[in-house]
Amino acid sequence: MSDIKTVSTLVVGGGIGGLAAALALARQGQQVHVIERADAFAEVGAGLQLAPNASRALDRLGVLDNVRKTAVFPQRLVWMDALSGAQVTAMDLGEPFQSRYGYPYIVMHRSDLLDALLNACRAHARISLETSRHVVEVADHGDMAEARCTDGSVYRCGLLIGADGLRSAVRGMLAGPGEPVCSHYVAYRGTIPVARMSSHAGSDNVMMWTGPDMHLVQYPVRRGELYNQVAVFRSDRYSPDHDDWGTQDEMSARFADACTEVKDALTMIATNRRWPLFDRAPIQQWTRGRIALLGDAAHPMLQYLAQGAAQALEDACALADAFATHAGDTPAALDTYAGVRRARTARVQHTARIFGDIIHMERVGAAVRNTLLAGRQADDYTPVNWLYAA
Ligand SMILES: Cc1cc2nc3c(=O)[nH]c(=O)nc-3n(C[C@H](O)[C@H](O)[C@H](O)COP(=O)(O)OP(=O)(O)OC[C@H]3O[C@@H](n4cnc5c(N)ncnc54)[C@H](O)[C@@H]3O)c2cc1C
Repeated sequence: MSDIKTVSTLVVGGGIGGLAAALALARQGQQVHVIERADAFAEVGAGLQLAPNASRALDRLGVLDNVRKTAVFPQRLVWMDALSGAQVTAMDLGEPFQSRYGYPYIVMHRSDLLDALLNACRAHARISLETSRHVVEVADHGDMAEARCTDGSVYRCGLLIGADGLRSAVRGMLAGPGEPVCSHYVAYRGTIPVARMSSHAGSDNVMMWTGPDMHLVQYPVRRGELYNQVAVFRSDRYSPDHDDWGTQDEMSARFADACTEVKDALTMIATNRRWPLFDRAPIQQWTRGRIALLGDAAHPMLQYLAQGAAQALEDACALADAFATHAGDTPAALDTYAGVRRARTARVQHTARIFGDIIHMERVGAAVRNTLLAGRQADDYTPVNWLYAA
């Protein structure tokens, strides 16, 4: 016998996107139940950059004040050449930036963001949370949607949000089968106490060092107590059939010509886990009847613009707006939601791929790029305006 539960709104996946969606919908008046596959709500990985479009969404979700307690507010984004050690360009994140966008650029530990969202969900009377529920199948039956879990439990609901990440089971039901696209790049990342970093680090800037087929990103998190580092490089040994590519030896070889600062930093990079980097091409089919996708389930992207979580937060706000407009008509609200989000997130997915190619240029390409960027003013926000102002 199946264990059948009826809930009003079901969110599948309790990551940043799922918890943000639960909060947005609950604040809009809905009763929301979140189910998560893992046995606890937790984030793996290290730091997260949150541009003003993300901090604006966090404010709408009512969690920005709590986020501020552990966040760091960097003063500059600095793009360095990883080979020469020279600055390529920089963006001022101080007063001109904040007065333009109305919200700060934030860097923080992923688990601090998840905790802020989780605490807000726990404190909300219209949200319930459940772990160890692994959804394997969803269906839309017109008057209700249904999710079935590995343990045989079944959830019936009036609205089902698939926020189950890169390898979303819900997406498979809507958009058909298909594997994520591997970029052949891999990341190693982690945090260390700020005191352990060499002298160039520990500042409150976001540092991005780029070179041929590799880059390193560094910034402080958790009130400046920890220093986050992410080393990313392309592996020539990629194969879909095994996962022994992207090794530490390959990382050392790829960064062999890097400047001293980058090589020093690499000696302190966490190597206990590697992250192959994937995205997918944009899709048209975000919804079916009472089911919709959100976050990485809808639009997984390469991390080069630092926008995956930001777009999930934007999705959550747009979903609540759509229900405010179409109260009582779930399919119409979901159509509106998908219509608002599809083109923007597709642009971010495409631009992230292009930006990855630009930062990883080599030789003449890199030299031309650096020359073109050398004349840029630090308070010229033209390239990011479409992204941050929305
Ligand atoms: C190296 C790297 C750096 C990044 N840096 C940034 C950055 O600086 N800024 C930024 O905005 N973004 C960044 N991102 C992207 C960001 O991490 C993701 O876009 C974001 O975490 C997606 O959130 P999500 O909730 O949609 O998906 P996920 O975080 O994947 O959450 C999905 C949740 O669903 C659960 N789940 C999965 N399947 C099921 C199932 N079948 N049933 C039930 N539960 C299920 C999972 O356990 C998980 O908890 C980065 C990504 C990488 C890889």
